Amino acid sequence: MNPLGRIHNFGAGPATLPLEVVEECQNSLPNLNASGFGLIEISHRSETFQKIVDSAMERLRRILSIPEDYTVLFLQGGASLQFYMSALNLLKTGEKVDFLVTGTWSQKSMKEAMRIGDASSRWDDSENGFTSIPKNGDYSVRKDAVYLHYTSNNTLYGTQYHHLPESYGKPRVLDASSDIAGVPIDVGAHDLIYAGAQKNLGPSGVTVVILSPWAMGRVNQNIPTMLDYSVHSSKGSLFNTPNTFGIFVLDRVLKWVEDNGGLEGSITRNIAKSNLLYEELDRSDFWKPHAEKDSRSVMNVTWRLPNIKLEEKFLEEAMIAGLGGLKGHRSVGGIRASLYNGCPIESVEALVSFMRNFESCNR
Ligand SMILES: *Cc1c(COP(=O)(O)O)cnc(C)c1O
Repeated sequence: MNPLGRIHNFGAGPATLPLEVVEECQNSLPNLNASGFGLIEISHRSETFQKIVDSAMERLRRILSIPEDYTVLFLQGGASLQFYMSALNLLKTGEKVDFLVTGTWSQKSMKEAMRIGDASSRWDDSENGFTSIPKNGDYSVRKDAVYLHYTSNNTLYGTQYHHLPESYGKPRVLDASSDIAGVPIDVGAHDLIYAGAQKNLGPSGVTVVILSPWAMGRVNQNIPTMLDYSVHSSKGSLFNTPNTFGIFVLDRVLKWVEDNGGLEGSITRNIAKSNLLYEELDRSDFWKPHAEKDSRSVMNVTWRLPNIKLEEKFLEEAMIAGLGGLKGHRSVGGIRASLYNGCPIESVEALVSFMRNFESCNR
């Protein structure tokens, strides 16, 4: 625990942010960048705020190497709105769209696409409790599917792709909510990427959407204004009042990423953190990791203990030791440690040392 009484926060989202970013928010609340206006009291039409939007967009483009002809939007409604909005913009009624179903979030996105098109699951691991990721060749894509949708990191289950899934020439649409800017990504190999900010990028209430020229060209004209990508694009994400606070924090987190080695720095740290934890999970059969080894996530690590009583004891004693947010999602149970960009390696070291002690007292 640090002097402010902050715990080591392993929560899945909204998730821990670098302390210096939190302190910048604190300092900007009464007066943002010497404008005289407070951070949550300033017009989204002001020059001060426009600079922040521009800065966040530029930083995101640099960090992710987003091709110049791609569009970047900051929207509201979370990734959950994008499940529907992406399909509404890209599909005409009844058109085919294929899904790789690797968890609850994939299921939910497919359910929303079904409202518009003929959505089909091409691979589904639900019978095995979503412990793995498909390999190329494990599935096929329909010849007349408009695109292939997948979820790069499965936040609840702790599984993650470590390769670009084969799409057989179809455009790829990606929900990258829980690993954007934390793992390598080839943006140009995708036509639409969306991500809620609250895991790797900032607070809840901002959703990053990245669109290729193909995706922008598909946008269906006869849809509600607020759900139309081309409306938000033509207004630079300021069609209506955006989440000004969220965009400020997003910009500060992206600055922090750039100051700390950019995407490469994040990738290196995330691998080091997750290796440390997986080494402990593999050391003793007291721990029962959920994900298959080749599908393990570097962002969310999930495991069980020998029984539920011990899991409850683990969570209770962890909290007393200053380690919070470790309860697994109810659909998986057990323990989950989220190791997003904002989580420092010191937190993982503290967790592993707690685990060693817990195991020796309880095995
Ligand atoms: C958290 C999460 C979501 C849901 O995000 P909201 O912003 O709450 O709608 C969707 N997909 C993935 C992969 C997530 O991790």
